[in-house]
Amino acid sequence: MKNSDLPSSAAPEFALVGRSNVGKSSLLNYLAGQKQLARVSNTPGRTQTINLFSAEKGEFFLVDLPGYGYAESSHATQAHWETGMQKFFEEREGLFAIFILIDIRRDVQPEDEALSRWLQGLGLKVIAIQTKCDKIHKSKWHGIREIHAKKLALHPSQIITTSSDKKIGLAEILRMMSGLLDS
Ligand code: GDP
Repeated sequence: MKNSDLPSSAAPEFALVGRSNVGKSSLLNYLAGQKQLARVSNTPGRTQTINLFSAEKGEFFLVDLPGYGYAESSHATQAHWETGMQKFFEEREGLFAIFILIDIRRDVQPEDEALSRWLQGLGLKVIAIQTKCDKIHKSKWHGIREIHAKKLALHPSQIITTSSDKKIGLAEILRMMSGLLDS
């Protein structure tokens, strides 16, 4: 996948990234269902795809990046992901912030942690979205948020708890996005 294959950004972009199976497609469908999210492009790479969506009447774009950490994927596939993504994060004009998705039931994995720290090192804004919060009792959310924040080197206020199944968190995601754009 070459970055030049993607349309250049006409508005600030937020990228969504996470381990495979974290619930990224479901979250995009949830966002799309509530807020006309139009698919702008679908750029197939050699093994992976980047999807670009326009949201909020073109006020910003959402970039859906390929998932990482497939249990069955080879080192070569993982290395391919890293090279492709590294180039994207370093070179993509208009990239405003990255939303890293974390399954609320799971520990933050070394790949998630490394990605968060590396992106912040590049000077990019990082927000974490915890997915599938309907799977965990609400009384536990606060504690898990603190643990996830520490691992990802984020402030707990940079973490959003969501469930696409139960439609929780959309308002907070949109509030975070407009807050970032205004900052
Ligand atoms: P992706 O690989 O990151 O795109 O993940 P998917 O969106 O395909 O979701 C992976 C699995 O998690 C599917 O079985 C979904 O039904 C499930 N899932 C996704 N979001 C939620 C959620 O908010 N709550 C629950 N309970 N399950 C979810």
